[in-house]
Amino acid sequence: MKPSLCYPDMGELQRWPSELPAPEALGFGQYLGPWVVRCEHTRLGGWRRPQLIRRAEADVTAASAAVQYGLSLFEGLKAHRMKDGSLALFRPKAHARRLRRGSNRLLLPELSEESFLEMCRLAVTAQADYVPAHGCGSMYLRPILYAADDFHGLRESQRHVFEISVSACQSPGFRHKRLWAETQYSRACPGGLGATKTAANYASSALGMRQAQQRGYDDALWLDAVEHRWIGEAGAMNLFAVIGNEVITPSLDGTILPGITRDSAIRWMLDQGQPVIERALSLQELAQACCRGELREVFGVGTAARVVPIDEIGWQGGSIFPSGGDMAERWSAALSGIQEGRDPDPYGWRASI
Ligand SMILES: *Cc1c(COP(=O)(O)O)cnc(C)c1O
Repeated sequence: MKPSLCYPDMGELQRWPSELPAPEALGFGQYLGPWVVRCEHTRLGGWRRPQLIRRAEADVTAASAAVQYGLSLFEGLKAHRMKDGSLALFRPKAHARRLRRGSNRLLLPELSEESFLEMCRLAVTAQADYVPAHGCGSMYLRPILYAADDFHGLRESQRHVFEISVSACQSPGFRHKRLWAETQYSRACPGGLGATKTAANYASSALGMRQAQQRGYDDALWLDAVEHRWIGEAGAMNLFAVIGNEVITPSLDGTILPGITRDSAIRWMLDQGQPVIERALSLQELAQACCRGELREVFGVGTAARVVPIDEIGWQGGSIFPSGGDMAERWSAALSGIQEGRDPDPYGWRASI
């Protein structure tokens, strides 16, 4: 699929960097690039050629099934600047594969890995000034795929749009958080959408997240929907616990998102000689390990925040405080070293642009 392009003129290109604040003040997702890569699809005609359009032109119609029925998928991946100024995406093919699995779940069309990669490259190169200097942050790419019919009835959608917008982001740092274990609401249930990166998951978790914040915590820790006993994930992060010398992470049972940072963390830890066990992990087990003094760390991982140490898990039975360790910090340093090209990439995770 060859893109048909209308590249922005140089006058506009040169204006971008001066409109951005210093890298350490970029925050996350705030400074959106002016261009969006857009590709349309119809059931009859298949995928059209990708185009580069102004963000303001990337509109969604009110009658779209994405807005009415939640038929929309998203991804989130990053591009970094290497020391020599070149750019690399982090694991774009893994993101493309997850998007394709989501398409099958929501009956949206499949996009090939090659097209996904090509459009990510286009989104980055067309606004490369939005990738901060080496070591100072990243460009966050937000691909979305949604049903775009103009139709009020419920049916399998006929028109679809794939779009990538980008934002310039600062380095996530290493910010600690406190979680509240939510026992009233559920994020996902067996057979539901928990393993699909879809807008619906955020609709179901919004209220729990606000209540956690009203209790003075940063975010909700989601438990299983049946017993409210087993640990799932937190907001947009997969969780790891270090108990004694073991690293444990909830297994991919269909109710948690199969995070690419989670997958990367497991591979890296195993390579370090650190056993990682994927299994069901209960809140009770964390509380008991805490009482014995064996709960060393709990941390979340995800593309946006990279690695987030959890200082406290609050729940009705009291509070759980990990005693401290260095796994989260070591993994965070290893990940940023690979992403930003300071360290070798034995896994082939960097895709140069
Ligand atoms: C995106 C996301 C994650 C993290 O996945 P990564 O691929 O590591 O960014 C975790 N949980 C949820 C609900 C998510 O949407």
